[in-house]
Amino acid sequence: MRYAALLFDLFDTLVRFDRTRMPEIRVNGKAVRSSAGELHALLRAHVPGVGLAACYEALMDSWREAERLRAIDHREVAAPARFAYFFRRLGLEEGALPPGLGRALIDTHRRALGRAAEFPPHHGPLLRRLAARYRLAVVSNFDYTPTALDILERAGVSELFGAIVVSDAVGWRKPRREIFDEALGRLGAGPGDALFVGDRADIDVAGARAVGMDAAWINPGATPLPAAIAPPTFEIRDLAELEAILNP
Ligand SMILES: [Mg+2]
Repeated sequence: MRYAALLFDLFDTLVRFDRTRMPEIRVNGKAVRSSAGELHALLRAHVPGVGLAACYEALMDSWREAERLRAIDHREVAAPARFAYFFRRLGLEEGALPPGLGRALIDTHRRALGRAAEFPPHHGPLLRRLAARYRLAVVSNFDYTPTALDILERAGVSELFGAIVVSDAVGWRKPRREIFDEALGRLGAGPGDALFVGDRADIDVAGARAVGMDAAWINPGATPLPAAIAPPTFEIRDLAELEAILNP
């Protein structure tokens, strides 16, 4: 066998995020998909003056701010820091709120995202066959490890992975090498024995190649490779094609 270990990205690789499964709410006369309605219901019980639109805007703003910071150096902005910004944006003093409210909001948001993650039915049997022959890991850029664990548990595949590494626990996001090294270390595999599988050329392919791993790029839309990125070892349209690569 050419590889000892297979490492997978999570979103748009193992699962697809389907925004239409997020709750629909109306904000300023416009229909949007967001967890903000559920967050608002929870928050309103403790902070009666907060409106839904303000809650939605603060949630969107906190996401934009986290994305701005992440783009600087790929350091992860974990969910508690994002929600601290959310509170500040609403003019709320986090220390003055009931203990556990921040965590309850994060978990409400986590459950809404978990329900919106769709696990394609053919991925389960495929991962089970692969787990019999390879060490498997998940390497995900995400701000809250429990969300990733929930999604994999609901899909019934979490026990197939020797390591589930999420950037909020590592502190760094792909394409930084720290997160790939963490996953390889936990699998006990070297980069030369491992294949990384992911949908983002700039994050998954470039990051994995930079640490010396082969990379399979999932490119369902057959979009051209960005000019600055070295070609992946393999390019596929769907995860189902992985076995043909591994057993030529
Ligand atoms: Mg992805």
